[in-house]
Amino acid sequence: MTDEIRVRFAPSPTGHFHIGTARTALFNWLFARNMGGVFVLRIEDTDSERSTREFEKSIIEDLAWLGLAWDEGPDIGGPVGPYRQSERMEAGVYKKLATDLLTTGHAYECFCTTEELGGERKKTLAEGGVSQYSGRCRNLSSDDRAQFIAEGRKPSIRFAVPESRRFAFKDVIRGRLDFEAEAFGDFIIVRQNGVPTYNFAVVVDDSQMGITHVLRGEDHLSNTAKQLMIFEALNFEPPIFGHLSMIFGPDKAKLSKRHGAASIIDYRRQGFIPEATINYLSLLGWTPASGQEILDVASLAAEFDLSRISKSPAIFDIDRLKWFNGQYIRKLDRVTLTNLVVPYLVESGFVKPEDTADEFNRLTRIVEASQTSLEVLADIKECAKIFGEIKFSADVAERLAEDRAQKVIKVFISFMTEAETVNKDEAKDLIRAAADKLKEDGFKGKEIFQTTRLALTGTLSGPELFYIIFGLGPKETKRKLENCVS
Ligand code: GLU
Repeated sequence: MTDEIRVRFAPSPTGHFHIGTARTALFNWLFARNMGGVFVLRIEDTDSERSTREFEKSIIEDLAWLGLAWDEGPDIGGPVGPYRQSERMEAGVYKKLATDLLTTGHAYECFCTTEELGGERKKTLAEGGVSQYSGRCRNLSSDDRAQFIAEGRKPSIRFAVPESRRFAFKDVIRGRLDFEAEAFGDFIIVRQNGVPTYNFAVVVDDSQMGITHVLRGEDHLSNTAKQLMIFEALNFEPPIFGHLSMIFGPDKAKLSKRHGAASIIDYRRQGFIPEATINYLSLLGWTPASGQEILDVASLAAEFDLSRISKSPAIFDIDRLKWFNGQYIRKLDRVTLTNLVVPYLVESGFVKPEDTADEFNRLTRIVEASQTSLEVLADIKECAKIFGEIKFSADVAERLAEDRAQKVIKVFISFMTEAETVNKDEAKDLIRAAADKLKEDGFKGKEIFQTTRLALTGTLSGPELFYIIFGLGPKETKRKLENCVS
């Protein structure tokens, strides 16, 4: 093997791609990119009841959407494939090594039935013990085995956990960690149906795929312990491990939907953009040496450093993520942003699908006028409303019907042209001219601008007035104002 750094992202396709898993994928990816290493995508689909190709597809799509390109994987192949555990199983990869472990005495066949194991477990717990496999089948005589086979029992294969042994390893994030092997009962590595368990398959694959570093959540620490024992029994060099702290909500509780935490696919739908999501996720447990917060992907990859990953839990705050997203939205040019928001405008009925091309220029102006108000792309649905037909509340209608308001509206109408569009400076000039005229007649700025804003949008909040006229264009502004004349 060369000195090449090889990491992997190994999702189980049993659900959508989650924020925590995405952070794990990202840290592995950033580490690989920083070190000029290889990022492997491996699909852990041995649980055939819960794994589906739909979830696999959805995870792969989200990973691609985030921009975390993989160098080897089920779709693109690579030198150490196949990259789906189900295919590796069919190729007999795990069976061979399980047999080796049986031969060397590091594993044994266990004939216990589920009922027997359940009974044993209940008894131990009732006696106040720790539920662990008793090791009943560890030393079966050949007669016992023959008897079980004659009864039609199918064995699973259990790993024989070494007795009186302490294992230690250096975690790149948490420092030296150790554990007593006996804290684990002999665990199953191949089920009765011949399917390898997660811990066994991972050791085989990480080893055969030449994985040098494994970064994953600290909820995997007890798995790492089991895996280290298997690595030793197979005489394989273990990778270097780093366990990332958990992600909590702002209330320090385990992250859940309650905190706005969702699947990547949900964030996509709400209109988070990948660059912002990546930037925010990178700061969940890692701080760049530069102390800068807004960092594009290339800078993140250049700065990423395992030694700056924190041991303390990370806090996921949806409002912070939105803030990041807003910052990235502001940086987009208006054509790019318009293309991104068109689906939302179609969804809200602001524009008909067949009109999006013809209306594109108008939409870019509305988008530009709304740009600083958007935190997620879907916010455009609300922001665009003021550029459509407005239904005034009774209060607003009453206020606009007052004489002074009518005067403001009429003066503005007189300054509007028949032009479809104006640029922002021209929009400012139109406003200034109308306002100057009204000021001569004793009107104050506040009254002028509030009235015009109300007449055009029905509300006092929203983008600056010149942006509203820029978004609407003089002709449409005039039409809207004329509708307010009583
Ligand atoms: N398939 C495992 C999971 O999704 C991977 C864990 C690991 O990185 O080893 O949790």
